[in-house]
Amino acid sequence: MIGGGLAGCAAALDLVAAGHDVTLYEARPTLGGAVQTLPEREGDPAPPPDNGQHIALGCFTEYVGFLERIGSGADYRRERLALPVVGERGTTSTIKPSLPALLSYVHVPRRDRLRIPLVTARCRGAKAKPGETFGTLLRRLGASDAAVERFWDVFIRPALNLPADEVDARAGLFTVRTALLGPRASSDVILPTKPLGAMHGDAARRTLETRGARVEPGARVESVDDVDADAVVVALPPREAADVLGEPKPDVEDSPIVSVHLLFDRRILRTPLAALLGSDAHWLFDRGALTGAEPPRGQYVTVVSSGVPELMEIRGRELVDRLAAQITQRLGDAEVLWSRVSREPRATIALRPGAEELRPGVATSRPHIARAGAWTATGWPPTMESAVRSGRAAAAHLLADRKTTVAV
Ligand SMILES: Cc1cc2nc3c(=O)[nH]c(=O)nc-3n(C[C@H](O)[C@H](O)[C@H](O)COP(=O)(O)OP(=O)(O)OC[C@H]3O[C@@H](n4cnc5c(N)ncnc54)[C@H](O)[C@@H]3O)c2cc1C
Repeated sequence: MIGGGLAGCAAALDLVAAGHDVTLYEARPTLGGAVQTLPEREGDPAPPPDNGQHIALGCFTEYVGFLERIGSGADYRRERLALPVVGERGTTSTIKPSLPALLSYVHVPRRDRLRIPLVTARCRGAKAKPGETFGTLLRRLGASDAAVERFWDVFIRPALNLPADEVDARAGLFTVRTALLGPRASSDVILPTKPLGAMHGDAARRTLETRGARVEPGARVESVDDVDADAVVVALPPREAADVLGEPKPDVEDSPIVSVHLLFDRRILRTPLAALLGSDAHWLFDRGALTGAEPPRGQYVTVVSSGVPELMEIRGRELVDRLAAQITQRLGDAEVLWSRVSREPRATIALRPGAEELRPGVATSRPHIARAGAWTATGWPPTMESAVRSGRAAAAHLLADRKTTVAV
């Protein structure tokens, strides 16, 4: 197994369960990959800051199953979808999957609002045109510009790590159909209550080792040929996978996520999470409230901006000042007592129109070598759910090959 993100861990669990000898090589000191707690720094409040808030949805059944298998099934809270959205003048309106809630969503003009349930229902049977973005498709189904920017983008952007006007229409349709038009529980919001590192990488390592797998952190693999094994899963990001497999690098683009943790000297966010319309601070999370560990003073807030490459260029102090100013201007005066910035330039692949065709499947050009990773062709957007599904698919691929006796 090469790569100890969720994909590699999920594959390793299945191969160990099938009775194989498994060794997992991970370049970093910890498992968990893109789902990490930041290295500790003096002065960090408790709980320690993560590399970014991670949210799952009720439809992420494989991800939830993975948490249960590694003993972290009690480390999240699950709530019915209710997304408070704060407008430019400070008014809050909540997005919920119910007709009355949609019709009373004040952030789009009344006429546009009436069309939201209609456009949602039309997503059920809609067909994306080749090269179409989700924004174009929504407008074709009757959505206004205001509804795309002020309603749809509120959850499409964090779900797909690109705004509706940039993301592939098929990915948008998949998200709406799977999360919003599926069974009621599919749209539930699942939020971690423990530091990400502890509940993912550390827990996965413990489980794997208990079951007899060897875990080798700090072990960067240069080539699949350096691994002495009968079968290998390459569970790496796109470019690293190509290097290790000796394949041409795929032409996929990345999409970044910037997260800023802020400790304010007083409480200003009244709900556990909220979106800020027309702001660089797309989503705010009350980390103290969500983890049940309030700071002794003030409020511990995580700010997330998805798919905005320009924010990657802004230096730390300037970024903190800019986001804090936008937040306090909207929610009320407060001083920042502590802050920490986390930039992930390659948080996910950018699912622009055409990108889906660049996602390879589980089979590689070489026998007994399978590919995994959230970015591969799982049918899901590049999420934690996709990572776990890809890992399980890679394990199943190797296990289906009767010649595979040992997977190391
Ligand atoms: C800040 C941020 C926020 C996110 N928010 C969400 C969210 O809210 N919801 C959601 O579903 N998804 C979210 N994602 C996406 C999700 O975290 C990823 O899609 C998923 O975790 C990727 O898992 P993976 O195993 O495919 O890849 P990775 O996690 O990238 O794992 C690959 C592993 O391979 C290791 N590696 C690389 N090269 C080598 C080598 N040569 N040898 C050995 N090891 C190597 C890496 O160190 C890494 O640990 C977010 C991602 C980020 C960064």
